[in-house]
Amino acid sequence: MATAWPQALERAERLVRVAAPELWDVPIYLVPQTETPFAESKMHGFTSPSCDLLLREGLGNRYRGRGLGIVLNTAAFERERGDQDLQADFAAAVAVHEAGHALAEGWATADREETDATYQEHIHRVIPQAAAKMATLEEYVPAVAKKERLHHGPDWLRVVLHMRRRVLAVAGVYLFAMSIVGPRPMTPPCFFEDALGDEPERLARLPLAEVLKLDPPAEFTRLWDADTRSLEAEWAAEAQQQAITPAPELKPNE
Ligand SMILES: [Zn+2]
Repeated sequence: MATAWPQALERAERLVRVAAPELWDVPIYLVPQTETPFAESKMHGFTSPSCDLLLREGLGNRYRGRGLGIVLNTAAFERERGDQDLQADFAAAVAVHEAGHALAEGWATADREETDATYQEHIHRVIPQAAAKMATLEEYVPAVAKKERLHHGPDWLRVVLHMRRRVLAVAGVYLFAMSIVGPRPMTPPCFFEDALGDEPERLARLPLAEVLKLDPPAEFTRLWDADTRSLEAEWAAEAQQQAITPAPELKPNE
């Protein structure tokens, strides 16, 4: 039987709200990628401060004003997880990942203006450009990995690991840290979660933005910094390798 996505996405929304009660009055739009102009994207999910506007037309009367828009690649979840429950958990994990961006970057709960001009701008310019870009994103290239690391910094990682533990504590749902974090050039997320120690329980009642105002446990920072150093060394070596490999167009007589 195929996964019932409307129900699975409602559950994913509930789990995001359990993990981040500060979103109580923020509309959350979790939309299957196949129902968006971004059907060609290979990513598991994505969001941005204006993602709600990207989705507004397709949402029709489900649109309730500015909120947190998240596109989920449900077709990829179906391909990559054999079982319906695992597919639903994967969707929830990716929803946590994306909501984590909004919470760590501070725009999830910010008042954002909505004008007809910005909406029209999205319909006519931003959506076609974004859809074309999403369709061409490569799987893995070092330059992209560096940018990814910039977008998935220690604040984001700490937020999503807190969210994972809250989902488990409050809703009893075990989301795999790897499914939330995704494949990234970094030490596996379970080590970072260990490094947080009991912080997620101690700070379970704090809004996530408040959590970020406190210093993380020293071990978490030490692990992040060690990762950064080893990745920078790796990227420097790759750059040097590229510098000594002649570019194909410079080879004579070919
Ligand atoms: Zn991300």
